[in-house]
Amino acid sequence: MSEHFQIVVIGAGPGGYIAALKAAQMGAKVAVIEKSHLGGTCLNWGCIPSKALLSSSELLHQVQNGSKWGLKVQGDVTADWSAIQKHKDKVIRQLRGGIANFFKLRRVQVFNGSATIEAPGKVAVHGEDGGVRTIHGDHVIIATGSSPSRIAGWPDDPAWVCTSDEAVHWKNLPGKLLIVGGGVIGCEFACMMRPLGVEVTIVEMMPTLLPGLDEDMAAELAKVFKARGIGMHLNVKVEDVQVGDGVKVRLNDGTNLDTDRILVATGRQPNTAGLGLEKLGLELSRRGFVPVDDHLRTGIAGIWAIGDVNGQCLLAHAASAHGVAAVENALGHTRPFTRPIPSAVYTFPEIGSVGLTEREARDQKLPISIGRFPVGYLGKAMASRHTDGMVKIIRHRETDALLGAHMIGAHATECIAAAANLLHTGATVEELAECVFAHPTISEAIKEAAEDALGMGLHLPPRKVITAPVLTG
Ligand code: FAD
Ligand code: NAD
Repeated sequence: MSEHFQIVVIGAGPGGYIAALKAAQMGAKVAVIEKSHLGGTCLNWGCIPSKALLSSSELLHQVQNGSKWGLKVQGDVTADWSAIQKHKDKVIRQLRGGIANFFKLRRVQVFNGSATIEAPGKVAVHGEDGGVRTIHGDHVIIATGSSPSRIAGWPDDPAWVCTSDEAVHWKNLPGKLLIVGGGVIGCEFACMMRPLGVEVTIVEMMPTLLPGLDEDMAAELAKVFKARGIGMHLNVKVEDVQVGDGVKVRLNDGTNLDTDRILVATGRQPNTAGLGLEKLGLELSRRGFVPVDDHLRTGIAGIWAIGDVNGQCLLAHAASAHGVAAVENALGHTRPFTRPIPSAVYTFPEIGSVGLTEREARDQKLPISIGRFPVGYLGKAMASRHTDGMVKIIRHRETDALLGAHMIGAHATECIAAAANLLHTGATVEELAECVFAHPTISEAIKEAAEDALGMGLHLPPRKVITAPVLTG
């Protein structure tokens, strides 16, 4: 006998599980199909495990630099990697249990297995035992996420060459680690590994770390990494990898490197294999993502795609926001999804970012003014000895619209919410500058940078050319 649901969600990552809960909250009968663990990449291999590991590593980094805070650290302070891993595993278990419980409370039916869409509204669930079950739904939401990219031709024994899927669960640490890809995963892992005594080298094919972010943020981070002894080879690629007695690597600029392990962090690819999309006639993008319109609809009526698999923004909170929007649209509250999505990089110092980068604004030929403020000028930064970093505000010079905000510094991932919330409401930079921020805080740097964008900073030398406007209203 087949079962009928209003909403069938494939995948229970932060996109799929939130979509399912939202649909149930709106009164729909909901099924979720998951072939692995509830919580998806984010909870089991991504955001949560990496942040659990980073929290120990950041504390260790501070203890190692205790003298800066007037602390005398006597004897060795070492990391107990297995205890750190146990904490991570416990958090994962707790959060998985939380999702299962919310599914129960909202009567979301979970099917364990791998889904194939046989026709619009008809989904086969292939169980691990080989059994197949068919369920039907008015709407099918594809929330199957993504997997780490691997490099063809490289050894695939994870003891030598691995991805973040293995790295977050490592049983032991390498003495030397070569990270291929200086993007978000590469930088977070470099930062995490260094205080643990691992010799880290990053190889990035673009001229800067974090090429997707504002260049000033990447430049600041590179300075910090250099001071910490993290090796960086930018604008180069790995040409050859040989494993055996350790790992030997040749770069295309002729450099030879020896390492114990390679972490490949060169991006992610969508999970579409086995979904049956070709048979449905659903065309994928050049990189294999499932294209959607601004309502999260695919080209086939009743089939939606949210989160990493649609390739719009590979972040957990983007997946969840898509999930809510797709469900609302499927159940009749039609509106486009156009909200700005902040991003956060959990290096220390952290990076928070929302809206256009300076380069994106210039590429669009927008008339802009830039406000900057060094975090180190703040009383709170000096007092707490977290003086690295800066804030950059991108302002539309004619309309005063806030276009983007970028911050590197302590707590930047939290501070950026102030700018992100205002960007969401379409605020002007004047409105951001008018907000009263608590003192002393690191987030004050955002207000100061907004004032600078208006030529009105009080904690910066007077600007020579711009006359400060009188605030209105
Ligand atoms: P996923 O979380 O990938 O979930 C998809 C689910 O679908 C999986 O559980 C999978 O098993 C299931 N599935 C796939 N195919 C099928 C099928 N055919 N049938 C049934 N089930 C299927 N993002 C942030 O915002 N902040 C961070 O700090 C952050 N840190 C990260 C750190 C790392 C190391 C990594 C790898 C990623 C990180 N991300 C972070 C990205 C974040 O994890 C993803 O953007 C997010 O998980 C995407 O959610 P999703 O629901 O689209 O897909
Ligand atoms: P990424 O796109 O951030 O970075 C990949 C990097 O690898 C890029 O800088 C790219 O230029 C480089 N690269 C690609 N091929 C290369 C090669 N052959 N040699 C050298 N460099 C190469 O991808 P990622 O770091 O793998 O992360 C995947 C996704 O996960 C990201 O899109 C990100 O949004 C998400 N993520 C988010 C967080 C967070 O929000 N804090 C943390 C980790 C991951």
